[in-house]
Amino acid sequence: AEEMMIRSEKMSVAGQLAAGIAHEIRNPLTSLKGFLQLLQAGVKGKEEYYQIMVEEIEKIETITSELLFISKPLTDNRKMESIKDMIHDVTVLLGPQAKLKGIDIRVDGADKAQINCDRSQIKQVLINLLKNAIEAMESPGFITFYVKDSEEVVKISISDEGPGIPEEIIHKLGEPFFTTKQTGTGLGIMITRQILASHQARLEISQNEKGGSTFHMIFHK
Ligand code: ADP
Ligand code: MG
Repeated sequence: AEEMMIRSEKMSVAGQLAAGIAHEIRNPLTSLKGFLQLLQAGVKGKEEYYQIMVEEIEKIETITSELLFISKPLTDNRKMESIKDMIHDVTVLLGPQAKLKGIDIRVDGADKAQINCDRSQIKQVLINLLKNAIEAMESPGFITFYVKDSEEVVKISISDEGPGIPEEIIHKLGEPFFTTKQTGTGLGIMITRQILASHQARLEISQNEKGGSTFHMIFHK
């Protein structure tokens, strides 16, 4: 019975995902079709239409590439990896985007902490959370990674100075396609949770006293 339950739960997530994908792709397709028909009818203002059409195609592109990531078979390429190294890599990757907004990325805590993980997957988690932190911040300031290495767990936290997350949407984070952003896909936190779960790790969210939020990744040793 337990197995059945697990299986039906998986089915409903897959179903939820399928419905979401269909919806998310149908909208830009409908709009593309509309603009093509207008162009076909020889309407004026071509340049503006082309621009919108490119943006709609980009939406489909982003969604499909994020979904491809989910469907990739789980390569089990796990070994002990330095957390500082992985944070360094993602900071180099997203540094320019942060700089543009006047955001400094700091790292604080255990220098030598390591976890047994698939490096590219955990880097994907760090990228998703760092990207969200950068996108959340409307004015210059700091994003800080804290690394804590204790007897039982390794905890990586990422703290931003954005507006924080309204109480009423917290439970929706990680639902496929839940986004409050104009150009968001709403897949980042879902993928993050999925990767962490496969590493027997969990994600916790807390609000900072001075505003902003902190995402904690907790790995058991
Ligand atoms: P996306 O970034 O495409 O919107 P995510 O799954 O990464 O999708 O995030 C879902 C939603 O969670 C975001 O649209 C935003 O509302 C909220 N969120 C995530 N991270 C933060 C953060 N650091 N600060 C404020 N809100 C956040
Ligand atoms: Mg995101």
